[in-house]
Amino acid sequence: MKVGIVGAGMVGSAAAYALAMQGIASEVVLVDKDADLALAQAEDISHAVPFVSATTVRAGSYRDLDGTFVVVLAAGVNQKPGETRLELLGRNAAVFREVVGEVLAVSPDTLLLIATNPVDVMTHVATRLSGLPARRVIGSGTILDTARFRSLLGRHLGIAPQSVHAYVLGEHGDSEVLAWSNARAGSLALVSFADQVGKPLTEEVRAAIDDGVRNAAYKIIKGKGSTYYGIGAGLARIIRAIALDQRDILSVSIVTPEVVGIPEVALSIPRVIGAAGVLSDLMPELDVAEVSALVRSATILKESADSVPL
Ligand code: ADP
Repeated sequence: MKVGIVGAGMVGSAAAYALAMQGIASEVVLVDKDADLALAQAEDISHAVPFVSATTVRAGSYRDLDGTFVVVLAAGVNQKPGETRLELLGRNAAVFREVVGEVLAVSPDTLLLIATNPVDVMTHVATRLSGLPARRVIGSGTILDTARFRSLLGRHLGIAPQSVHAYVLGEHGDSEVLAWSNARAGSLALVSFADQVGKPLTEEVRAAIDDGVRNAAYKIIKGKGSTYYGIGAGLARIIRAIALDQRDILSVSIVTPEVVGIPEVALSIPRVIGAAGVLSDLMPELDVAEVSALVRSATILKESADSVPL
């Protein structure tokens, strides 16, 4: 399966590396307006491939994206000093206007996987610009926040994160909602499991895990400037579900007709992912506080998406 990646910066290259290391794609093509960067990243990653897989990794132009099954959009610009969030959004929307048109001109049947932040709003923008059905324009959303949530819960309970079933909903960002009330360890309610193993989920423990999930990116950025390995692996995880038509349930963002009473909003809830993109949505059962937090998150995202000049 051929995968395209537009934007060969930190996130795009981390996704290419994760795809190549897991042998998920037969071919990965990196495109960037900085052609030298795309070439250097492709060369570097391709030198790791002989140790593990047979994936071809190369740099190319938009023309080389013909026949791609999925194209990751990781292109974007960084915030300038003094620039407002809305101005930045406007500039990233302009990048997407150019990029989405170029990609669809050569690969009209591709799925789009959006990684550029703010990812929910950019997913909304890409959906509008592309005219593709919403289930074929998928934002990485809270895939990483969900992984962080599971990993911190697993660490507290002394079990593998893969055995924790818990999701982060809403915005990939400050207003995200950790869904505690329906979380499970194996098939047991999380609270029962925690009590059984003598590691109760006290208010203190919950607050520490909430902080660890919500502020993870800020802490990483403080230490090393940006985050990319985690999201790179998250993008590869979504592409694996698509490539193998796995029907995995992952928390990703698409424009959804209605969530908690808010119409036409791009945010994350658990969704079934297969070769056609998002196959169905799962609205989790939440407690009253979680519902109101999700309404708040959806409202923020809706207002933000509506304000982007297209
Ligand atoms: P991140 O950490 O999100 O990956 P980077 O700045 O490292 O951020 O990467 C963003 C990449 O997007 C850069 O390599 C940049 O050259 C690329 N880019 C920006 N605008 C465009 C565009 N219009 N077309 C293609 N690539 C673009």
